Amino acid sequence: MSLTQYGLTNHTLTSQRRSYWTLCPQHSSFGPPAEIATKEAQHSVDDSFGVQQRTFGSAAEPIQRNPDYSVLNSDDVSYFKSILGDNGVVQDKDRVAVANVDWMGKYKGASQLLLLPKSTNEVSKVLAYCDSRRLAVVPQGGNTGLVGGSVPVHDEVIVNLGGMDKIISFDNVNGILTCEAGCVLENLSTFVENEGFIMPLDLGAKGSCQIGGNISTNAGGLRFIRYGSLHGNVLGLEVVLANGTVLDMLTTLRKDNTGYDLKHLFVGSEGSLGIVTKVSILTPAKLPSTNVAFLSCNDYMSCQKLLLAARRSLGEILSAFEFMDRQCIDLAMTHLEGVHNPLPVSPYKFYVLIETTGSDESYDKAKLEAFLLRSMEDGLVADGVIAQDISQASNFWRIREGISEASVKVGAVYKYDLSIPVEKLYDIVEEMRSRVGDTAEVLGYGHLGDGNLHLNILSSKYSDNILAQIEPFVYEWTAGHRGSISAEHGLGLMKAEKIHYSKSPEAVQLMASIKKLMDPNSILNPYKVLPQSALSPEQG
Ligand SMILES: Cc1cc2nc3c(=O)[nH]c(=O)nc-3n(C[C@H](O)[C@H](O)[C@H](O)COP(=O)(O)OP(=O)(O)OC[C@H]3O[C@@H](n4cnc5c(N)ncnc54)[C@H](O)[C@@H]3O)c2cc1C
Repeated sequence: MSLTQYGLTNHTLTSQRRSYWTLCPQHSSFGPPAEIATKEAQHSVDDSFGVQQRTFGSAAEPIQRNPDYSVLNSDDVSYFKSILGDNGVVQDKDRVAVANVDWMGKYKGASQLLLLPKSTNEVSKVLAYCDSRRLAVVPQGGNTGLVGGSVPVHDEVIVNLGGMDKIISFDNVNGILTCEAGCVLENLSTFVENEGFIMPLDLGAKGSCQIGGNISTNAGGLRFIRYGSLHGNVLGLEVVLANGTVLDMLTTLRKDNTGYDLKHLFVGSEGSLGIVTKVSILTPAKLPSTNVAFLSCNDYMSCQKLLLAARRSLGEILSAFEFMDRQCIDLAMTHLEGVHNPLPVSPYKFYVLIETTGSDESYDKAKLEAFLLRSMEDGLVADGVIAQDISQASNFWRIREGISEASVKVGAVYKYDLSIPVEKLYDIVEEMRSRVGDTAEVLGYGHLGDGNLHLNILSSKYSDNILAQIEPFVYEWTAGHRGSISAEHGLGLMKAEKIHYSKSPEAVQLMASIKKLMDPNSILNPYKVLPQSALSPEQG
């Protein structure tokens, strides 16, 4: 069998793939894509602030505002201006409206104030004041979160970290980057690549998401299979607690076993325990040869076997293993501009994107070619291409990374992010298809190498009937297979009341105790992450 079967001859890429995500043009460093932002901003302004919008994606009733929180007044605004200056205090309705709406245009708050601190000291003063006045706060990064965690539910003050975007230092012997939390991931990638390193994480939202947001969500993404979790890569943090205390844990040490490792509490706590202001993170060396292959499989079993074979045969050079079903490809071809199907001859049920990154161009190339030939001979791969150049590699990645963007263009997106044992991972997609019938389109894709399924259910508009077919089934099914209802996106508002599907009552109670200890007035990101019942005063 020869490589011409892949349609293209192999070519090793020597530069990192292109990035696609563009910043919201209305905002220099945060906000949803322009078309959504504009539509929603208009909507919110027309509806006037203070009207609680219905949120979708959970069967829960609309959440009541906690009356214990103060209502913002003009003295508060004057105080914030005295700390942040006029430019750091945004009341302009259009700008605040953008920050009130999440990336999907699905969760909408009614805040009247957006604060843009420029230093840790400013964040500390803002939080100390909010705590003393009991003003609720939403920490916000790039606002690309997908679970309604980054926008207010009611009138919480939005504290966006976009103004804290300085690189503090880079240790180019050990690859340790120290920076402020508002640095955009893509800017950090560009910076460290110029130094001969790469960021240990990469995701489709890299052009807008901030490193502080990544850490607060414990983002996974496309390099997880190779470089692992942020719990391993983050070396130190500086965090401002709810009462304004600055917690300096900004070590750059690889090893430090002195007492409890408190930074881990803030990795993945979604702004509910403190505001991350500075970060030190380990960056791996940039390797010179990257190859990307786009393959098709006839059934899900072949995808699983291909994953195992890739782990065995490609070993240390495997840097991504992403899968998509045919519905994803159709969606991408319909809604993403400038992409083309790399395997247009006939439709297949499943597609897999494999990336390898290594240090020896000819060795890596030979290894990938041999692996693909063997996989075709074994019947695991039906057809495939290897990118010949950076533009083909970009096209492959654009398809995979553009699925979220294409989904939003359909109208309503019910989005689930599940950890499921790999052998069962696609069963729920098929079961969901039979549940919703022709009322909605069901897509399955994700980070197969990490056992992480993204399940998107799309329809032209939100409907209670469709939602009733999805929930609580999706959570019960996942819990029944000992999976997690949040693999990497977090709980946010969407799943705060669903945590019990993945965590025991004892674990939830301990989390609530930690929250009460660290944020006794519960000002940080209220209504998110933990169930309201666990945080009520009666619960100890
Ligand atoms: C197209 C697209 C692709 C995506 N792909 C992936 C993916 O592959 N993997 C993945 O894990 N996620 C993915 N996401 C989700 C999202 O990008 C990540 O969750 C990201 O880490 C959020 O970063 P952010 O700066 O936008 O945070 P935001 O959305 O602003 O906030 C997210 C949460 O973190 C809190 N927060 C933000 N900044 C801070 C801070 N400095 N201190 C304390 N709390 C803070 C917020 O309160 C909120 O609860 C994707 C999103 C999109 C739109």
